[in-house]
Amino acid sequence: MGNSIQIARIFGIPIKIHVSFLIVLPFFAWVFAVQPEPYGFAGTQPETLRYAFALATAILLFASVLVHELSHSYLSLRYGTGIREISLYLIGGVSAMEGELRDPAKEATMAFVGPLSSLIIGIVLLAVNYLFNPAASTAEGNALFMMIFILGYINVILALFNLIPAFPMDGGRILRALLASRMNFVEATEKAATLGKILALLMGVVGLLTSFWLVIIAIFIYMGASAEERQVKSLRY
Ligand SMILES: [Zn+2]
Repeated sequence: MGNSIQIARIFGIPIKIHVSFLIVLPFFAWVFAVQPEPYGFAGTQPETLRYAFALATAILLFASVLVHELSHSYLSLRYGTGIREISLYLIGGVSAMEGELRDPAKEATMAFVGPLSSLIIGIVLLAVNYLFNPAASTAEGNALFMMIFILGYINVILALFNLIPAFPMDGGRILRALLASRMNFVEATEKAATLGKILALLMGVVGLLTSFWLVIIAIFIYMGASAEERQVKSLRY
């Protein structure tokens, strides 16, 4: 992918961030700074502390997306499929594999380990906040526990969102793996991608009536589903 900057190498895999990060990261930090407690730091004083926590939360959020991607990559390497690079984007990351896993059981496991890692991170952080936060409620507590709560909460949401059984979510890969045991790989991909597109259209319609964010996510899902379908067809034919 063009316009990406390599920031690290882990397990020998280049980790790249897209240049849009230079806008996206401050934007997320700003969202955390203006959101009221417990989902942001709007009431935290002094102001420098508020922005420091907001920025740290944004950076740690992307770090947890990286852990999610690395968990996919780690299993992929163990299964003998190389990973060309990991790119971190706006809503998530993409692990570019060298070739496709064609063993349904392995593909399902590899897809599942990402949401599983997000879920574990999320539950651990929420549990830490629940057990150790001395305040009566997170919203009244200090900024450190607020940060732990926000990161835990978003990681749980990310895990559940990724389990939706439609491309391009990890759940789409799990679904394709299940379908692929009964039909060929291309047909299974088409079915999972079609489900993704239907879901995206429904979300888009609901989003137009309710939330702008939902429309953005719907466009992201539609494009991802189409890309997955195109890629698999070009591999096959
Ligand atoms: Zn994933």
